[in-house]
Amino acid sequence: MMMQPSVPKLLAIDDSELIHRLLRLRLQNERIEMHSATSSLEGLRMASELKPDVILLDVDMPQMDGFELISRLKANPETQDIAVIFVSAANDPGNRVRGLDLGAVDFISKPFDIVELKARLRSALRVQHLIAILAQKAQIDGLSGLWNRTYFDQRLTAELSEAVRYGRPLTVVLADIDHFKDTNDRYGHLFGDVVIERFSTILGGGRVSDIPCRYGGEEFAIILPNTTMVEAVDVTDRYRQQLESATWPEQPSATITASFGVSDLSVCDHPPTTKLLCAAADQALYSAKQAGRNRVKAAERTTVSR
Ligand code: GH3
Ligand code: MG
Ligand code: MG
Repeated sequence: MMMQPSVPKLLAIDDSELIHRLLRLRLQNERIEMHSATSSLEGLRMASELKPDVILLDVDMPQMDGFELISRLKANPETQDIAVIFVSAANDPGNRVRGLDLGAVDFISKPFDIVELKARLRSALRVQHLIAILAQKAQIDGLSGLWNRTYFDQRLTAELSEAVRYGRPLTVVLADIDHFKDTNDRYGHLFGDVVIERFSTILGGGRVSDIPCRYGGEEFAIILPNTTMVEAVDVTDRYRQQLESATWPEQPSATITASFGVSDLSVCDHPPTTKLLCAAADQALYSAKQAGRNRVKAAERTTVSR
């Protein structure tokens, strides 16, 4: 689930053709994808289209100078995280301070030394990569390695609006381990953690487009985009069987099961909301527990009210 480091993208924005030729020549053997813009307006457009990792930005340009350009990049959520390095002949302390205060990560003087420029690029890319990892870590649950509740909430909102917009199916599964308090009491909390890890592995073994999350404690949720209720119940029942038939070398006498509730857009009144989808799945989960646990229940339309 962690992001793969891909070839970083660099966008150079400078009205001097000479600078672009120089950069291309000197960076041609670097593991970097080079893009050039020869005006600030073109640069602004390319920045939001390409989403480069780093921008080398000239200060003095006609139409719009580098300071105005970086202000626009930082004001736009789509481009605000791009690392910007100023490359400028206007390198008096006032300009440097202004550039850094506007959100640039670095300021390089023209004419630049290519070895120094490469070192500063590497440093900026390193920081970018760490920020990306941190941002993703904040969305991942430590014990299970699955997405966390915060991510689930954000992602379900996004998937719901996609599904409604394109008329695609969407299902939500809620799962809860059965009698887990007893399991902890009988075999210890450490074994309980092993169970959570193993169950997470099972839930993470589906399609790559599925979004398995740790909803809290011993409760899990899976968002299944583009999946009908019938398909989702089928997939979920396979997860149920896998957990039921798992063997536990740590506690050979243990049998672990879980109960599941599945909901889809058809159980909601229009317009569907994430709250209704979750409430419907939760009710189905509750009825799975009531019916004796270790089973999958599909939500029924009539059971949900606003
Ligand atoms: P039910 O079948 O009705 O779901 O019974 P239950 O015992 O699973 O339900 P309950 O919600 O009462 O208990 C959940 C237990 O899960 C209580 C809590 O100690 C345990 N638990 C929650 N998170 C963790 C965890 O991260 N590790 C371990 N080992 N236990 C956890
Ligand atoms: Mg519970
Ligand atoms: Mg439980």
